[in-house]
Amino acid sequence: MGVSYIRWSFGPREPIIGCMEAQPKSGESRVARKPGHAVVLVHVVAMGGAAAAIALTNHWNTWDPRPLAVIATFTVVSGLTYVESGSARVKVSGTPLGLMLAAVLLGGGPAAIVGMLTIALVWLRSREAGHYFRNNLVTFTWYALAGALFFHLTISAFHIGPQSLGYYLLVFPAFVIALGLNFLGVVGYQCYLDGSSLWQKVRDVLVPVLSAELFSALLTMASVYLAVHLGMTGIALLGLTFVIFQYLVGELLKSKHRSQELHRLATTDELTGLPNRERFRAQLEQEIAAAAQTGKPFAVMLMDLDHFKEINDTLGHHYGDILLRELGPRLARSVGPAGLVARLGGDEFGVLAGRRTDDPEQLDELAGKFLACIEQPFVVDELALEVGASVGIARFPIDGTDAHTLLRRADVAMYTAKETQSGCKLYSAEQDTHSMRRLSVLSDFRRALAAEEIVVHYQPIVDLAALRVRGAEGLVRWQHPELGLLAPGSFIQTVEQTGLIGPLTRYVLDRSIAQCAQWRRSGRDLSVAVNLSVRNLLDRELPKEIERMLDSCSLPPEALQLEITESMIMSDPDRALAIVTRLSDLGVRLSVDDFGTGYSSLANLRRLPIDELKIDRSFVTPMLSDESDLIIVRSTINLAHDLGLRIVAEGVEDEPTLAHLALLGCDLAQGYHVSRPMPSDAFADWMGRANALLAAALAA
Ligand code: C2E
Ligand code: CA
Ligand code: CA
Repeated sequence: MGVSYIRWSFGPREPIIGCMEAQPKSGESRVARKPGHAVVLVHVVAMGGAAAAIALTNHWNTWDPRPLAVIATFTVVSGLTYVESGSARVKVSGTPLGLMLAAVLLGGGPAAIVGMLTIALVWLRSREAGHYFRNNLVTFTWYALAGALFFHLTISAFHIGPQSLGYYLLVFPAFVIALGLNFLGVVGYQCYLDGSSLWQKVRDVLVPVLSAELFSALLTMASVYLAVHLGMTGIALLGLTFVIFQYLVGELLKSKHRSQELHRLATTDELTGLPNRERFRAQLEQEIAAAAQTGKPFAVMLMDLDHFKEINDTLGHHYGDILLRELGPRLARSVGPAGLVARLGGDEFGVLAGRRTDDPEQLDELAGKFLACIEQPFVVDELALEVGASVGIARFPIDGTDAHTLLRRADVAMYTAKETQSGCKLYSAEQDTHSMRRLSVLSDFRRALAAEEIVVHYQPIVDLAALRVRGAEGLVRWQHPELGLLAPGSFIQTVEQTGLIGPLTRYVLDRSIAQCAQWRRSGRDLSVAVNLSVRNLLDRELPKEIERMLDSCSLPPEALQLEITESMIMSDPDRALAIVTRLSDLGVRLSVDDFGTGYSSLANLRRLPIDELKIDRSFVTPMLSDESDLIIVRSTINLAHDLGLRIVAEGVEDEPTLAHLALLGCDLAQGYHVSRPMPSDAFADWMGRANALLAAALAA
């Protein structure tokens, strides 16, 4: 048999033993009154009253030391080893059981002694303030005494003995009376001190544990029955069983706490203390279930920091971590208690706004609030760090009715916000086709390379002085089975990020070199240009491989033109210079592509073994309508010539521009007016008609 009792503790400091309820929350701890002489007087009078009551009813008391010692021992041990039940409100211990056993079996005097003893010994552990100790002492003395007086008064008035059922039934009201006194003594005193309402406390403290207390009263009845029928041994066994039981309950609760703690850890992000992705998902699912019932729409927001990587890369992870740690509470504050903000990983956050709405204007306003709170500078080690963010929003039920879809669509919207630098975007279906494309790039590109879906188109480059085709630029295309012919703009960036740019460049080089060799075999003295990417300029193997490709096709190196951009050189000039020099040593020609769009220094340009500048089409195409573009084109042509370089004008879209470039002394031209990029067989056809076309093109 096991009995669990619930004892409460209450007070401004933990633990006030033998009393009820948890501490007031910090902040609301207020003491309206200091216990003065009146309180001391009340305590003294109450103790005197207890002594008088014990003396007057001494004929009901049994001062047998053996049962008294046994009951006192287990009551005190149990009181000292109480178990916290987790909700700070309830403590499990055998004190009330012990006191009620003493009250029924031994009478009010011995029961009061056991109560006082328990409070005194427990005080040695808790070291309460003197007035709390006095109050506990009074309360526990009367707690035991009142139960006993009620019980013995009743049985003697009605001549009830342990043989009758009524004797045991009476334990129940005695317990309830004692409990009521306990509550009044402890909580009432606290209410007196801090001026709070006793009625409020009854609702907050007593009502939640009432059923457990009444159950304890029933168990006390059973214990009294056993103790009466088994005598001393019964009492001892009862006490022992109880202490063991209390220990087991303690262990159980501990393991429950541990698993709660593990659960907390598993659903919390360690760095920021915010809920993590799992928690967010679970909460989102709850939200969906609730919204499905009430029919109220809501929105999920995903937020990703902009330029966070740069902070990590340039200042180190230490700074990045501090920033994230400070951002957590900032976002949580801005979202408010009704919302939820979670760190989903890296610099990505998920938000369920406190205000449930699907109104675009309100959502925009909410997102604006979060963005503003992120944009406030973070001061770390006297450095003011600034970050921005992009927010994607998906709405329930318009954009999705399950967590997976909502999160994915918020992600798609977030990417669109990032790409368009618009801060915040609501999901829309056309964003999805865009992002499907991005996703399929990642998963499909390697397969596409193997399946020969990657093709090279050739765009002619013409010599304006000699009026002949010098060669062509090889431009990559993806013949996608579902999406059709994709221009490099829709996949090159992603391919560059995934490291597949190495295989892609080799592929285009391989095709272009083989193609150029074939042109030469058919009697056309053409060259081919291929674009390199920034990563290729860090690839030490590339020069050797290019040499091998040229050898295997027997193409002279000067027939290959490699295009690099200014920014590629500027990102790491020394390293780029080393690779570029090795390429140039092979005899391959080098061009600077998109010239004029980056920030190149002429000093760097002079150090590079380049042959040619390709002036960017953004200057060439509008040069006849925009005076300043014309000036740039003219001076770039002169600059190139002064440096001993050839110059290519890209983006020549009409005949007057072509003619004007020839007039300015531009060496070479490339553009839609000459021809769009075309597949190799179309290029061969075009070459057949080229000379006539060229003559016509420059007729003016
Ligand atoms: P780019 O190197 O500047 O290539 C020239 C781009 O200008 C080509 O676009 C071409 O179709 C376009 N173009 C040519 N003439 C005109 C014109 O008269 N008007 C206008 N508006 N555009 C013209 P494309 O083929 O879409 O290529 C875009 C960019 O993709 C290229 O710019 C290049 O940076 C990159 N790219 C293309 N192929 C490769 C490749 O094999 N490897 C690498 N790394 N990048 C490549
Ligand atoms: Ca190019
Ligand atoms: Ca270009």
